[in-house]
Amino acid sequence: MNAPECIFCRIVRGEIPSQKVYEDDEIFAFHDIHPVAPVHFLIIPKVHVPSLAEAKAEHQSALGRMLVMAGELARRAGATDGFRTIINTGRVGRQEVYHVHMHVIGGPDPLGPMIVRRS
Ligand code: AMP
Ligand code: ZN
Repeated sequence: MNAPECIFCRIVRGEIPSQKVYEDDEIFAFHDIHPVAPVHFLIIPKVHVPSLAEAKAEHQSALGRMLVMAGELARRAGATDGFRTIINTGRVGRQEVYHVHMHVIGGPDPLGPMIVRRS
C-alpha cells in the first residue's frame, strides 16, 4: 500500500522529482537532497512502511534487498572503499521522514565517528 501524502511514496510514483540511483520491483534509490558526504543516497522500499519499528514479515524481501543492493550501488556512486548505512528510527532515532529509508554515505575520505558521546 502506498500512502497518498507520504513524500517518499510520491517520489516512487514520480510525483516529486528525484535523482534516481536505482529502481526495481521492490526498492527505489535516490540521492539525498542535503548530502552530508560526496556519496549520500537513500534506499527505500516501494511499499509504505513508516519506520523500521513497524517492519513486518511481509516486508522482509524488500528490506533484505535494500541491504543486498547497498554495496553495488555505493560502488557505482563512487564509494569504492567502504561506506556507512544508517536507518534513523522514530523519535529517539531522530527520524524525519516516516517512510523507511536507509542512508548510504561514503567517502572518498573516512567519515567522522558514528555517534558523538555526550559525556
Ligand atoms: P531522516 O528521516 O532523518 O533519516 O532523514 C530524511 C532524509 O531525507 C534527510 O537526509 C533529507 O535530506 C532527505 N530528504 C527529504 N526530502 C527529500 C527529497 N525530496 N529528496 C531527497 N531527499 C530528501
Ligand atoms: Zn511512503
